[in-house]
Amino acid sequence: MRPAWDNVKRIDDAAQNVAKFVFDNGTAVAESVLYKYPDYATRTVICCSTQSGCPVGCRFCGAGDNFVRSLTADEIIAQVEHSIEQTGIQASEMKRLQVMFMSMGEPLLNPKGLVPALRQLYQLYPNAALLISTSAPMINYEWVREISMEIPTIGLQFSVHESTDAARDALVPFKKKLNLFQIATEGMIWHEVTGRSPFFNYCAHDGNSSTEDAERLWGLFDPLIWNATVSVVCERSEGMPATNEHQRSLASDFSLKLVERGYDVRVFDPAGQDTIGGGCGQLWFVQKWMQDHPDLARPSIGRGLPVVHAPTNAA
Ligand code: SF4
Repeated sequence: MRPAWDNVKRIDDAAQNVAKFVFDNGTAVAESVLYKYPDYATRTVICCSTQSGCPVGCRFCGAGDNFVRSLTADEIIAQVEHSIEQTGIQASEMKRLQVMFMSMGEPLLNPKGLVPALRQLYQLYPNAALLISTSAPMINYEWVREISMEIPTIGLQFSVHESTDAARDALVPFKKKLNLFQIATEGMIWHEVTGRSPFFNYCAHDGNSSTEDAERLWGLFDPLIWNATVSVVCERSEGMPATNEHQRSLASDFSLKLVERGYDVRVFDPAGQDTIGGGCGQLWFVQKWMQDHPDLARPSIGRGLPVVHAPTNAA
């Protein structure tokens, strides 16, 4: 691993095949999560951070209360390198390798770190799918399209999570963000220039999983263009059961509603949520680091607003 971090802490959930790494260099903290399905050679998934803390302030997210700074390209790449080293096999031996920019931070608010990281990761691991997962900040998406045209392994996922702008505004208090119609438009343009399908990510909970919700999504996101990820919600506080059967069946029932409307749907229910905080947005160790570094951790817009249950795979 390149020398971007001084300390790496490993937390294992052997039963569920998940390992989490917490990286610290005194000025920033980051976290990556490593999954195998069922072994690293068959399928390896790595979620890595692009910022330390996050300015977006989502109310389900353990990183959403504080922001330290954006990570450098080296700090992003080192998380991936370290995670791959820990698998004990070469990346080229992995039949499927997915690197997801979704653990902590808003990737599209860190173009200076993300773009060179994407280029180097593509060179290092040409077989890796590189998935950018975004809350859709209001930026100029031209550079996102350009880098996605340059690197054919880049995927794009928008965290939608609600079917109305009012509900989404309550969940994602960051003001400079696209509304649902604007997300639909950006995804469509990205599809036109790359030829690939963007994803929208949706966490199913009791208040947003009706037939009307599915209809509204269908009215916004053309299933000929968009694929859907339906996430099982989890709990950001340590010590609380992260998921339960009710939440899992909500996700699978809602995914059926989307399948009926023509979407290609995957249900995301990451392992390790109940034991090591493996669900993105939980970030227990990061929450502790922020408490221990009040001089570096600035309050984000979310600080003090009510907490809600977490969509996994959130950012
Ligand atoms: S879910 Fe993602 S965008 Fe939202 S506060 Fe957490 S890290 Fe930031």
